[in-house]
Amino acid sequence: MGRITGPVCRLCRRDGLKLFLKGSRCDTPKCALERRATPPGMVQKRRSKPTDYGLHLREKQKVKHYYGVLERQFRTYFARAERGKGNTGESLMSLLERRLDNVVHRLGFAASRAAARQVVLHGHITINGRRVDVPSYLVKAGDLVRVKNRAKSLQLVHAALADFRREVPDFLSRGEGAIPEGRVDRLPVAEDVSIPVQANLIIELCSK
Ligand code: SF4
Repeated sequence: MGRITGPVCRLCRRDGLKLFLKGSRCDTPKCALERRATPPGMVQKRRSKPTDYGLHLREKQKVKHYYGVLERQFRTYFARAERGKGNTGESLMSLLERRLDNVVHRLGFAASRAAARQVVLHGHITINGRRVDVPSYLVKAGDLVRVKNRAKSLQLVHAALADFRREVPDFLSRGEGAIPEGRVDRLPVAEDVSIPVQANLIIELCSK
């Protein structure tokens, strides 16, 4: 499956859950899910009872859409989480939360994860003083995520910050200086994940 470029609100309507894919619009009454909570499509107006497989699959798709990762990448995260020592579901979600595009979004430097991906790709972000333009870069505890000190980068991020209404999660702290920056205080745990997810369903599906 390629990257989704079509109307993303359909994904939220499919899952019956806000995936926050459209930036500040998601927090307003203009949110498509608030106006029309039915699944997308011309005919289907009610949610049919999902099969067992369907339940497992929807859970995985929901997480992939939320973090903007494709199947192959998702499988890589799963394999890495499985190799780790702790609970596989928690490790998987922690890895996804550590992605640089997610961290940039959760610090408020971009309105959505898709926008954060662009911000990173275009070289507006540094980690511990070095430019990092890889959205899938996994941050570590102690990392300093900082916006590049140049007019275009600062203008872009200040505009996003002015509109950002969500809380910064506990594992991150945002500085108050003129140049936006944030510190990764610790690695994210299950409680830091901002999407309700039954990770066990994903693990069961991916382990088959
Ligand atoms: Fe989902 Fe945001 Fe669209 Fe609402 S506005 S349906 S949360 S992408």
